[in-house]
Amino acid sequence: MSPYGFAKKTGQIHRYDAAQWLDFYKEALAYILEINRSGYPLLECYSSLVLRKMLTPQNPGYVDLQSPSGLGISAIIYNHDGEIYAGDEARMLGESGDRTFRMGNLWTDTYDQVMLGEAFLDILESSMAQSAPICSECAFMPYCGADPVYHHETQQDFLGNKATSGYCYRNIGIFRHLITSCVTVHGLRDSSALGLSMLALNVAENVPLANWSLASAAYS
Ligand code: SF4
Repeated sequence: MSPYGFAKKTGQIHRYDAAQWLDFYKEALAYILEINRSGYPLLECYSSLVLRKMLTPQNPGYVDLQSPSGLGISAIIYNHDGEIYAGDEARMLGESGDRTFRMGNLWTDTYDQVMLGEAFLDILESSMAQSAPICSECAFMPYCGADPVYHHETQQDFLGNKATSGYCYRNIGIFRHLITSCVTVHGLRDSSALGLSMLALNVAENVPLANWSLASAAYS
């Protein structure tokens, strides 16, 4: 659970940790794949985004899986009071009193002031995974990204120490699980392969259900 807004205020974020979340993710994904194999197309959205990055030349444009982060460049959030934030989690932080990711205000700031503010550009610069310690040597970096809001909230640092980062722990767990489930150096293999590629291909190309097995074969 992300440590913002009501989840933080009500203490819900302490109900489970990243390891428990990952166990649940694997169990839920296995169930979703079973449903897909029975013929009903059901997406697990995050897996689909990751697989799309892994298996196709397309970039789904997901804010937290981009380098630099998609904050303010793939997403801008306008609050009811005219405040402009670099993302929804940034807005949640702002509502709880931390306006670090506020880009400006619709009533008082010009486009240039909003998009070229130094504070905002500093955040973007800090979110380059290619130059971040640990990330720059990580095999999963092409599929990953950065989450300056999460790391600011949990480690008081935009970049964050990935050795103790919940964001990194979750993503590594997901990348490993997806790869070991379906990808080998020779291509997609075991019984999970079809279901996993179905998840990716359905999002990537709107492949109709009847064509999924053919499309999957194209990747093997
Ligand atoms: S998995 Fe972790 S170390 Fe690798 S790129 Fe992502 S955040 Fe960085």
